[in-house]
Amino acid sequence: MATAPKSQTDSKPAEKEVLLRVEGITKIYDGTIKAVDDVSLTVTKGEIFGLLGGSGCGKSTLLRMLAGFEQPTKGRIFLENQDITNIPSYQRPINMMFQSYALFPHLSVWENIAFGLKRDHLPKEQIAERVEAMLSLAQLNKYAQRKPHQLSGGQQQRVALVRSLAKRPKLLLLDEPLGALDKKLRESTQLELVNIIEEVGVTCVLVTHDQEEAMTMASRIAVMAEGYFLQVGEPDTVYEMPNSRQVADFIGNVNMFEGVIEEDEADHVTVRCPECVHYVGHGISGHQGQSVSVALRPEKIMLSKDKPAGEYNWCEGEVVEIVYFGDHTTYHLKTSTGKVIKAQEMNNTRDLSCGLTWGDRAYMHWNDLAMVVLTQ
Ligand code: ADP
Ligand code: MG
Repeated sequence: MATAPKSQTDSKPAEKEVLLRVEGITKIYDGTIKAVDDVSLTVTKGEIFGLLGGSGCGKSTLLRMLAGFEQPTKGRIFLENQDITNIPSYQRPINMMFQSYALFPHLSVWENIAFGLKRDHLPKEQIAERVEAMLSLAQLNKYAQRKPHQLSGGQQQRVALVRSLAKRPKLLLLDEPLGALDKKLRESTQLELVNIIEEVGVTCVLVTHDQEEAMTMASRIAVMAEGYFLQVGEPDTVYEMPNSRQVADFIGNVNMFEGVIEEDEADHVTVRCPECVHYVGHGISGHQGQSVSVALRPEKIMLSKDKPAGEYNWCEGEVVEIVYFGDHTTYHLKTSTGKVIKAQEMNNTRDLSCGLTWGDRAYMHWNDLAMVVLTQ
């Protein structure tokens, strides 16, 4: 009997030219380890597509099949409508940049970039022209004669990127490209890489386990688990409208309330939970009496010392933890049921603490479009 694929079908942005199409691809290692499970995917020209998921969920395996380093057990890969499933990696117009980006230490920046072009026996003048163009792109003209160890981590990363772009691949694959950099450098390098990628207009599939990296770099992301796609969409859609508990949990911070649908109307739903009653300002596909989870992000919760009006969308708690992050502070409040809820307040002024300290009682409240009702 045929079973429906677990993977979410991908939502291709309308009316854009498709570069890469993957149809029902599966990889089983050693006859038993299902690393990628019936994944379909469409990537349009110029897009940066992010594969996001925890360690071992199959991201690298999927990427390696695109590169041709791994043969799929099932399924097909098309590049510009040409079936490339059986084409060897070196004949694919695809380049992969690895996490350990391995610049040749004994070669200068210039020679590192020229390396692949020389191996392809391009004419000398053409090599020089391309290397100069790549150096400008990476803003590293001044450093052309330096060795990799004479560059900062971010500069080395830029060399590695333009080196993989020098052969003008149609598709660039990035596997955890910034894994080796520290947080601050990662953030600035993320934007630099996106600028370079957009300037040359190359299509890109990016693998990362870091959700902020996926959100800042990619135009669409696929959240992966156990070899399949849980959700595919633009970063803000996946963040604001996760389709399952698993996605809500994986992307960002979330408070999860367990409850039962009480009123189920076309324009609103109410969900009764032990801590509070949620009034959701739109209809959902559920039914009265159904058990659901309500996901509510900490930044959507406001704190006050005064009891909110009405009976919905608030609960009381005791401040049990205050975590200061500089730009914002997260307050942990324990409700009468023992559940701890996180509320995040922006530190808009230098007068911190919004008047709350450990042991204080306060009210958390939120508006009726702040939460997501999840049925799976
Ligand atoms: P990720 O990149 O998301 O961390 P991988 O694609 O590397 O995940 O791995 C997915 C699963 O496949 C893991 O269970 C991993 O142990 C397994 N796996 C990866 N490569 C091989 C291989 N060459 N042989 C056998 N199993 C592998
Ligand atoms: Mg990996």
